[in-house]
Amino acid sequence: MKPILHWSQTNARLLNACPRAWVNTYAANLMTGSRGPGAPRSGTQRRPQIDDAVVSALRSTWTDRMEDLFVGTEWSSPFREHRLKRRFTDAMDASGLKAPETNLTLHLKRGVNQLEALERTVGLRPLMRGSGSRWAYFERLDGVHVDGVTLYTAPDLAFYHQHKWTLIRLQFRSSAHQTLAQQLEHLLMVKWAMAQPGFPNEANAYRVKVIRWHRHRWIEHHLDVSETLLEQADALVQHDVQEMKWLLRCWNSDADLTAVPYARDVKTCESCAYRKRCPAGQNLAQAKAMQERFVLNLHQREETKSLRTS
Ligand code: SF4
Repeated sequence: MKPILHWSQTNARLLNACPRAWVNTYAANLMTGSRGPGAPRSGTQRRPQIDDAVVSALRSTWTDRMEDLFVGTEWSSPFREHRLKRRFTDAMDASGLKAPETNLTLHLKRGVNQLEALERTVGLRPLMRGSGSRWAYFERLDGVHVDGVTLYTAPDLAFYHQHKWTLIRLQFRSSAHQTLAQQLEHLLMVKWAMAQPGFPNEANAYRVKVIRWHRHRWIEHHLDVSETLLEQADALVQHDVQEMKWLLRCWNSDADLTAVPYARDVKTCESCAYRKRCPAGQNLAQAKAMQERFVLNLHQREETKSLRTS
């Protein structure tokens, strides 16, 4: 069966952090046809932490808020807190996480502050003031098929303001700096929108804005949109897709994943759900050295074989 590959930030981040963890997470589902970020996985790549439950609760509460805003229903502060608490409890239960009550209260308080601060950001002002004449919110699971790959790169929000569509990416957690690759990833929102009915298909009809939470505050920045940058974003996807195809071939031909690379950084292993059954689980450097020797021997054997048969 020919797998239909998909590209999402989660998928690509894991692919780049550890190809072996990517194979463990996605390969079986892709080869059996259960694809997409919402498809059941053979396992999860990270052991869930309380902060994962917090982020999940923040994101789902924000979606609830957008649903109500869309039909003109406003939220009071106590209602926001009540909704976040329920979403947080659900996320903790779903991951089997437990924490002392004082800890949960602190997370809840910080979460409420974060959501309130989000509504005060400059980027969301046209929306919160009702001056975006047309707007929509999306779920990350809304995929579009572009050049043989399903892209799960929907913006969190899109609104029409001052003659252009503004596409917003919200990140409830982010690192200090955004790499060029991450910026190109954000531009894939434009590719997604251009493939949707009802959105224009020229790059210059869009603005892209990222609103991301780092060190207790929202940071906002615009990204340039141009045909050249969109081509670079396409190239990034194609590069990852080639890598995925190669890994699926490895998985098909060798279930022990002998030649599949390990994590780039030992930190990835520390929270990896596959650690117990991975040769790199206890010592990444040693496993990498053994793999290098194995691959070298394999090449030497292949070269000797071809010399003998030539
Ligand atoms: S333990 Fe490390 S190398 Fe092994 S799958 Fe997990 S992240 Fe990758």
